[in-house]
Amino acid sequence: MLNSILVVGGGTAGWMTALYLSKKLNKKTKISLVESEDIGIIGVGEGSTPYLKHFFQELDIPEKEWMAACDATYKTGIQFDNWSTEPAFESYFHPFFNAFDKKPADMFFYNSGLRRRGFEADAHPEHYFTAAYMAKEKRSPVTPSKLEFDIDYAYHFDSVKLGQFMREKAKAQGVEHLIANIVSAKVASDSSIMSVQCDQGDVLTADFFVDCTGFASLLLQQTLKRPFDSYSQTLFNDAAVAIQTPHEAQQSAAPQTVSKALSAGWMWNIPLTTRWGNGYVYSSKYLDADAAEKELKRELDIPDDSDIKVKHLKMRVGRVSEHWYKNCVGIGLSQGFIEPLEATALMLVQFGIQNLTKVLNCEKVEVKQVVDYNNEMNRLFDGVKDYISVHYALNTRHDSEYWADCREKIKLTATVKDLIKSWDRGEDFEAELTKHHSELVYLRPSWYCILSGMGRFAHHLKHHPKAGPVHIAKEYCHRITNKHFPTLEV
Ligand SMILES: Cc1cc2nc3c(=O)[nH]c(=O)nc-3n(C[C@H](O)[C@H](O)[C@H](O)COP(=O)(O)OP(=O)(O)OC[C@H]3O[C@@H](n4cnc5c(N)ncnc54)[C@H](O)[C@@H]3O)c2cc1C
Repeated sequence: MLNSILVVGGGTAGWMTALYLSKKLNKKTKISLVESEDIGIIGVGEGSTPYLKHFFQELDIPEKEWMAACDATYKTGIQFDNWSTEPAFESYFHPFFNAFDKKPADMFFYNSGLRRRGFEADAHPEHYFTAAYMAKEKRSPVTPSKLEFDIDYAYHFDSVKLGQFMREKAKAQGVEHLIANIVSAKVASDSSIMSVQCDQGDVLTADFFVDCTGFASLLLQQTLKRPFDSYSQTLFNDAAVAIQTPHEAQQSAAPQTVSKALSAGWMWNIPLTTRWGNGYVYSSKYLDADAAEKELKRELDIPDDSDIKVKHLKMRVGRVSEHWYKNCVGIGLSQGFIEPLEATALMLVQFGIQNLTKVLNCEKVEVKQVVDYNNEMNRLFDGVKDYISVHYALNTRHDSEYWADCREKIKLTATVKDLIKSWDRGEDFEAELTKHHSELVYLRPSWYCILSGMGRFAHHLKHHPKAGPVHIAKEYCHRITNKHFPTLEV
């Protein structure tokens, strides 16, 4: 019986869930969302992966509408600055891929292979992907050309406005919106949730509960005691400080996130239509909050004594292993979080909601479906964590204990170790990727981009007569970019 669903929490995860369920559930189920006005939302998280584009497409919400409401801009990838000190690899671009890249990318894979085996060849990812050119030349990834394929790209947005936009859409779809502080939940003898109790005395019942209460994880972790597996041995960062700065007038920004390594973490720089979002994600073991704020302000040219608004945050990095337990599923920060280096949190939210909807739309929910759901969410979280961990493991910075520890002390999975070993030894990297295919969330081009982009190569190189001619790839990417992708408007 699924007559009613209560979403607890009204951050981005809560409203994405309520909106999607109200549109995609094929049953006549009443959907309500309760949120606290006193606690508020986390209010950061301004970058996406290309999956968000598909989310809005599935809901028939045009870009024109939601992007305008959320000060959103396009994103064609992430530029990583100062993660590596290898000459010529101090900066690299992790692009979103499209079908135009097929030929130059093949040359890139080939050249990377040569370079790994000690031959001279240009293996810098920046030269082989059209998205990198779009970023450099400030192009829109939306092309007026009639193509036979879709161009993948992502967005930057104001996270508060995104939540508000989805709230209005969800309410228009019939979602009931309640305001209350939930103080406890009543659990039945079979460990399912019967109701939640509001501080003013009201009791809210439902057949199914979605815990979107953020890091509090009120239902899944606090009430149902689902254990949390920390990633802190692998990902050291556990804090962040965020500052918004004004936009330069009359100047469009490049459609990219910049992620710049600092003394004990990295700084993000995100362009919105109305302002910049900036922040420093760091490890509190190596840097205190005051020092992090000072370092960020220095990077942004903000005087120490400025009264600009600064937001400090703590992050709990890891995941539960049972995202769905009895009649409760956790979506968003309540189920886990991986630091935002590749801006993956809303992508995991989206996967969780889509998978949940598929199961709830079945005639009857079998235990196996819940087990499969949990296994898949664990695979996704762990796969993203593995890819993120490589950014730290491969760093070559020598300016702080933090970076040395990231290189030497972080716990890597056997999969990641195998991939790096195969790469370093010049072995069959393709075979290694295929062997681990089922565990990998990031696919082949991303692995090549990070390993090549960090300059993970031997130094003394021999000449190879068959190295791919990079100028051909550069000319091709340049021509495609100019032909199909218009200059971004201010
Ligand atoms: C520094 C940082 C940077 C990030 N950057 C990115 C990024 O670039 N891209 C990305 O995809 N993600 C990013 N994220 C993650 C992103 O912010 C979150 O995944 C997203 O905002 C969803 O949060 P949420 O809805 O789960 O939680 P929250 O926003 O915390 O919402 C929790 C909701 O639960 C309610 N609530 C809590 N307790 C109660 C209670 N007792 N009673 C009633 N209501 C309650 C709150 O009022 C609120 O409405 C970032 C996170 C951090 C920390």
